Amino acid sequence: MQNARYKAVIFDMDGTITKPVFDFQRIRKEIGLGAGDVAKEIEDMPEAERARAWRIVEEHERDAETNQELQEGAKPLLERCRADNIRVGLITRNVKRSVDSLCSKFGLSFDHVITREFEHIKPHPAPILHMLAPWRIAPVNTIMVGDYIHDIDCGKAAGTTTCFYLNPGCRDFSDHADFTVSSMQELETILWT
Ligand SMILES: [Mg+2]
Repeated sequence: MQNARYKAVIFDMDGTITKPVFDFQRIRKEIGLGAGDVAKEIEDMPEAERARAWRIVEEHERDAETNQELQEGAKPLLERCRADNIRVGLITRNVKRSVDSLCSKFGLSFDHVITREFEHIKPHPAPILHMLAPWRIAPVNTIMVGDYIHDIDCGKAAGTTTCFYLNPGCRDFSDHADFTVSSMQELETILWT
């Protein structure tokens, strides 16, 4: 087998491992947010409003769990990483329950998962650095894959290579990333060429 270019691959969940299901436009409207970072705007709210806002986000997350669908080729790609001794991580702003639901529904497993419950969320580099430390893998041997600007900024801040996953009809942040793919097959080429 050809040696892989990276020792660790870290994925975002929604819109990267799974097909995008969140309607952020609708979530923003229901909460009454502007166009900024959803999590950050909510954190800046007074406490009572903040609790209500997170409840709305969580309702959407529960709906999304029911409709979760994998990106085509996601499972074989994760299995190929495993077979080739590449560490596989997942960093999501979603809650742990959603990740558990995804993993049991599709029989996926990750070497390490970091969710919203962790003290820092993307684009802060801490989740990546925290994940890599016990693996003794340097950011320079790691690729961060995600479908949103925060995923790319998180990877850059931590010093990894970055790969933007462009979904049909979604905002294009490919200018910010080292690579851009629109399928798991394209990602496979980057990992093993
Ligand atoms: Mg995403």
